[in-house]
Amino acid sequence: MSSPIGISHLPEQRRKIVSKRGASFTLMVCGESGLGKTTFVNTLFSTSVKSYADNKRRHAKQTSQTVEIEVSKAELEERGFKIRLTVVDTPGFGDYVNNREAWTPIVEFIDDQHESYMIQEQQPHRGEKIDMRVHACLYFIRPTGHSLKPLDVEVMKKLSSRVNLIPVIAKADTLSPENLAGFKTRIREVITAQNIKVYCPPIEEDDPEMAAQARDLIASMPYSVIGSETDVQTSDGRVVKGRQYLWGVAEVENENHCDFVKLRDLLIRVDMLDLVHSTEEQHYEAYRQQQMETRKF
Ligand code: GDP
Repeated sequence: MSSPIGISHLPEQRRKIVSKRGASFTLMVCGESGLGKTTFVNTLFSTSVKSYADNKRRHAKQTSQTVEIEVSKAELEERGFKIRLTVVDTPGFGDYVNNREAWTPIVEFIDDQHESYMIQEQQPHRGEKIDMRVHACLYFIRPTGHSLKPLDVEVMKKLSSRVNLIPVIAKADTLSPENLAGFKTRIREVITAQNIKVYCPPIEEDDPEMAAQARDLIASMPYSVIGSETDVQTSDGRVVKGRQYLWGVAEVENENHCDFVKLRDLLIRVDMLDLVHSTEEQHYEAYRQQQMETRKF
């Protein structure tokens, strides 16, 4: 049976790096409020985490809406591989008259983490660092079936220049398969036309199986998701995480219903280390260089 935490699926060399130090991974979720961000995180935890270091740290909302940035942590461990997972839930925007102000704290949070890490690096005695740099930012798109809104484009542009941006179509169960397919195509077109740089998993040509999986992941972007923490029974008697409808069950982990499994593979099984490395090598490095340039004058 395959392991729920796929760090043990990583290529041997990468696995060595992970097993020595463990891995720290910070995931940010953002987008309008009510799109299922909190539910998604809990679904991700409940379908992929065998053991929480601390169950009380389950991602829980204090209020009906996330009004400020909330950070929760869990330590995942499987077969000796440790992942220190940090989830950053951000205030939903789209509800305010001045939406421009609403995404500012999100961008500032990302920059602040780079700044804090850079300051720690500059200290004469460089010990263990506090590192909350965001490795992946899931941007939740409202399932309108039309296209991206100007606000989505604006925010995604801001984010993509700072962080590994992964667009997600929220509540995929509310769109018919045809509408979902058309919506995906239009979102991809806007992303290309607007030159928004989304995260692209690397294709390792020396491993045909991994290369095929990477190509499939790239082709599936933006990832449609269904979030549910509830177990429901399907008409053929299976008990699954899903959402019950009169016509049947929209299943979280059914690849014909949404891309939840693909996105989980990307985040936890296949590309976690690449997300960490590209954050260090591209996004943090870009921030560091830009700051060095500005501070010269
Ligand atoms: P957040 O404000 O983005 O964190 O959204 P929540 O996770 O609080 O979810 C808002 C509402 O949407 C709740 O009533 C959820 O049960 C519901 N919800 C979450 N995910 C889904 C989904 O995939 N499909 C549907 N139909 N509803 C969802």
